[in-house]
Amino acid sequence: MARPKYKLPKTNQQLQRLAREWQARLRLRDWDISVFFADKEETKKAIGPAFGATRPAPGHKIAMVAIKRPEDIEPDVMGCPDIEVTLVHELLHLHGDAFDHFFIDKETKRPTEYFALEAMIELSAIAMVELKRGIPRQQW
Ligand SMILES: [Zn+2]
Repeated sequence: MARPKYKLPKTNQQLQRLAREWQARLRLRDWDISVFFADKEETKKAIGPAFGATRPAPGHKIAMVAIKRPEDIEPDVMGCPDIEVTLVHELLHLHGDAFDHFFIDKETKRPTEYFALEAMIELSAIAMVELKRGIPRQQW
């Protein structure tokens, strides 16, 4: 089997470099984004079963993004447990932040639209990484 033509980040510095690359591609260059691996137990706990989490301050274009390491991801969780897909997914949330709040009904807490948004973001993230790598997801 051919070796993949991409290298996934292992350090916070490499992760931050990959984030800069995607910030440019996703037109988020004007955001101040701190990206880091969720190595602290409290951070992993806060993320729950997801692969990553984003905490934006949209009015200020500042955000913190925590990404779980592959070994910390529980099996059988829906989605694509790839660091770069998770990073792109979390960065796309910055564009969709207003939608996140708009779609969650504060009284009924009905999550239907929220999950539709999640699926749209996840599929977009996978498609973008496939395009960048030139390799379909099944061959990663
Ligand atoms: Zn999400």
